[in-house]
Amino acid sequence: PSELVRDSKPSIWVEFTALAAECNAVNLGQGFPDNPAPKFATDILKEISLHPEQTPWHQYTRGFGHPRLVNALAKLYSKTLQTQVNPQTDILITVGAYLALYYSFLGWLNKGDEVIVLEPAYDSYLPQIKMAGGIPISVVMELSKNPKTSEDYKFDLNKIESKITNKTKMLVLNNPNNPTGKLFTRNELEGLAELVKKHDLIVVADEVYEWHVYPGHEMIRFATLPGMYERTITIGSAGKAFSVTGWKTGWAIAPSHLLQPLKNIHQNCIFTSITPIQEAIAQCFEKEIELIDAGKTSESYLLTGLSSQLERLRDRLVKSCSEAGLKPIVPQAGYFLMADFDSFDGPFKDAAGSSDLLDFRFVRWLCREKKLATIPPSAFYSDENKKGHDHFVRLCFFKKDQTLDAADEILKQFK
Ligand code: PMP
Ligand code: GLN
Repeated sequence: PSELVRDSKPSIWVEFTALAAECNAVNLGQGFPDNPAPKFATDILKEISLHPEQTPWHQYTRGFGHPRLVNALAKLYSKTLQTQVNPQTDILITVGAYLALYYSFLGWLNKGDEVIVLEPAYDSYLPQIKMAGGIPISVVMELSKNPKTSEDYKFDLNKIESKITNKTKMLVLNNPNNPTGKLFTRNELEGLAELVKKHDLIVVADEVYEWHVYPGHEMIRFATLPGMYERTITIGSAGKAFSVTGWKTGWAIAPSHLLQPLKNIHQNCIFTSITPIQEAIAQCFEKEIELIDAGKTSESYLLTGLSSQLERLRDRLVKSCSEAGLKPIVPQAGYFLMADFDSFDGPFKDAAGSSDLLDFRFVRWLCREKKLATIPPSAFYSDENKKGHDHFVRLCFFKKDQTLDAADEILKQFK
């Protein structure tokens, strides 16, 4: 194998998705909804499949994004990013947010360029940055004492600044954050924007959970801060927005000078993403834009439907965990819950000569012996920061009531 992948290990998704299936476990691991997809979205897809004569829906489409989709996204993001997003030049449609992230690193990093990453960070960032020749520089967001909510993950701006060198080129910001559900405050984002300006950085803003924000909280998109649109590649995902992760379509939005290198890679790698899915997502967004423009926010899936459905599921899982002594950090956004299993006892406590971290041992044991699949969050920290961050599990609560009932039954054994 090439040097690029020689040291690569199976990702947590490869290992724990297979383990959940092998154990036939109740699956609160990998983040995907197991309840029905929104009917309006599948109805649109059905309608598309019923029209073979509509050749533009079934053949190759425009390489950088299906015209109807980039037009809809430009309309929506011109509002949310509070700037004029040009559909022709400022949007690139990719196969999932994963690819938009990878293009951003490949398109902007030279060998040895440093990238500031706030941890815990989505596990694909570090390998992607390294494959692109970059060097990830991690800064940990620490939990304050007796944490209750994801607000209790805090970072120190001075610490970030102390790690900035003349090689630092980029900051990756995942807001809302996976796995913690942390939603960054205006104050925190303004502090980061100051550093970005001062040190002339590019920002990759992974905002795939931008619509999964619970009532009483405000999503502030990084590109809306003064001077930041010019420096930010904003990344989104239709799989997240419309709860259809299998539709696997994402995008990068940025001024054309920032997007061009990503397009240069795309034209020779994928050239164009899947047309009927882009057409369906375009129609989903058009429907949403119509409702939002008409002031019918209570009927909007993105503004109301999604978070009200999720809030109830979040509260259910928070209760199940609390009753079992699995101390939850209540998320302000997203569909994951971090919970501390420090008070649990079991054979997983015994390292027995293995170099595996405690949360990996706990998660494997919970899956194999108790048939409950979860994710070990130490995977969201770089090697030097894993220690001390291995007494949590990440649970996904975007699940049917029956799935959460079954999880509750398993957790009751720990009372
Ligand atoms: N970023 C974050 C923070 C995620 O949780 C995910 C997982 N879906 C992705 C990016 C990738 O999204 P997609 O499925 O659209 O590739
Ligand atoms: N982003 C989702 C999660 O965090 C799915 C990950 C994946 O399938 N690779 O669980």
